[in-house]
Amino acid sequence: MKLTELFTQPDPAFGQAMTALLERFHHSDDSQVPYQRGSFTHQLDQSRMPTAGISTTEYLTRLATLVPGASHLTSPRYMGHMTAPLPAFTAELSRLLVMLNQNPMKMESSRLLSFLEREVLAKLHRLIYGEGDAFYDTHMHAKDAALGVMTSGGTIANVTALWLARNRACGDNLFALYEQGYRGAVILGSRLMHYSFDKGMDLLGLGAANVWRLDTDADNRLSIPALEVALTRCKEQKLKVLALVGVAGSTDFGSIDPLPELASIAAREQIHFHVDAAWGGPTLYSPRYQGLLAGIARADTVTLDGHKQLLVPLGTGMLLCRQPDLMMTVKREAPYAIRATSFDQGRFTLEGTRPANALYLDAAFQLLGQQGYAELIEANYDRARLMAELIEASPAFELMSAPVMNLLSYRCIPPHLQGKALDEEANEQINRFNVALQKAQRAEGHSFVSRTQRAVGRYDELPLTLLRAVLLNPLIEERHIRELLADQERLGHELARELFGDAR
Ligand SMILES: *Cc1c(COP(=O)(O)O)cnc(C)c1O
Repeated sequence: MKLTELFTQPDPAFGQAMTALLERFHHSDDSQVPYQRGSFTHQLDQSRMPTAGISTTEYLTRLATLVPGASHLTSPRYMGHMTAPLPAFTAELSRLLVMLNQNPMKMESSRLLSFLEREVLAKLHRLIYGEGDAFYDTHMHAKDAALGVMTSGGTIANVTALWLARNRACGDNLFALYEQGYRGAVILGSRLMHYSFDKGMDLLGLGAANVWRLDTDADNRLSIPALEVALTRCKEQKLKVLALVGVAGSTDFGSIDPLPELASIAAREQIHFHVDAAWGGPTLYSPRYQGLLAGIARADTVTLDGHKQLLVPLGTGMLLCRQPDLMMTVKREAPYAIRATSFDQGRFTLEGTRPANALYLDAAFQLLGQQGYAELIEANYDRARLMAELIEASPAFELMSAPVMNLLSYRCIPPHLQGKALDEEANEQINRFNVALQKAQRAEGHSFVSRTQRAVGRYDELPLTLLRAVLLNPLIEERHIRELLADQERLGHELARELFGDAR
């Protein structure tokens, strides 16, 4: 085969094989391929590239051995992570997007799709901030304005927010802070803040240790008294507070910080107010639940993830800015491409070349509409409430955080401790039991939840192992939730015999 044929002649058999692979994958579960590092590394132990290319038919043989080893994120009994099955239209749309291969860093390499990004960002800006038509008419496509930027995810969006906050405070020159009389800079938020803020402070040269993770209340929300104490300490120690972070949907619990109070404190202290709504932002589509995010419109910046509750492919995040000129504080140019007087989004994005993933959002917005999102989100939030009820009804489980959105945490209690008062030693046993249980369930491959480790007010400051369920898949039915819990009860019985045989 001539190499140019790889570019000009699609192989229909290859496309059909791809469809068949996906079909088979979607009708199986993780039990097909055990979760074992040893067998994975054994399967992939070739460090040499082939000298000559192989045919697509030969490559299909290899693909057929790789695909079954992927995680079955789309299974309705897989409730462990923040990854959703994608709507079917995404498959064909992704073919279009990948083959167009546009680069919205620059207008010259994406043309109309650069402006599609701006339109998509304006729709999300309106969802959060609800400005009037005149505002969007003026700023949506203005040259020296950006209602936000597209990023590869929530991490880069959060890092960009810190970058903006720092440049607002002292430009890119930390000495300016010292000249203002400060000895350093910190950001304040709850201990449930995402770890991307540590990365951001590290990169900005401000130090991950200056992410102050403050106490939470019984509902896993940033404690206002703890915040006031921290603010006083910052003044005493001459530390500049670069940003106050409110989490709107914590990664562990889905809890939401008291945004109206945080907004008022940020305004009073003149601190950049950032809301990390990577998970929770789309709650705003739901008339029933949008009240949970009251106060978000007062944030200077808001992080959203497209690849979570907006149900588009991975690699889609956003940072939204209330004020259209805020992005100018991080503007950078390059003479060969990113021109100061252009519309190039590359002037503001931390990333350079990147895909035009705004097209996925555009399609989802048009095809689902606000009502479609509202319906999907409400159904998921209801599923989480149903799961919480099933957990509370069984002595084999202890619900650790009631669902605010569609995340919940709980743990399995071994038979000999059910109904007992749990002291520190019992909690340590339960921790070990839940780690073993989560691993056993993962190894079995039929159903899945993830696990985390957190202190929960009920048991003082003891770090507890918690099972964490994420109800994101629109195809989850009550029977799947029941099956998952039944798997845990069954595995729990077996494990309790192994771990605590004598204690019972
Ligand atoms: C997922 C998440 C992030 C990180 O987003 P990525 O897309 O994984 O980079 C940040 N904050 C919160 C609250 C999240 O849920």
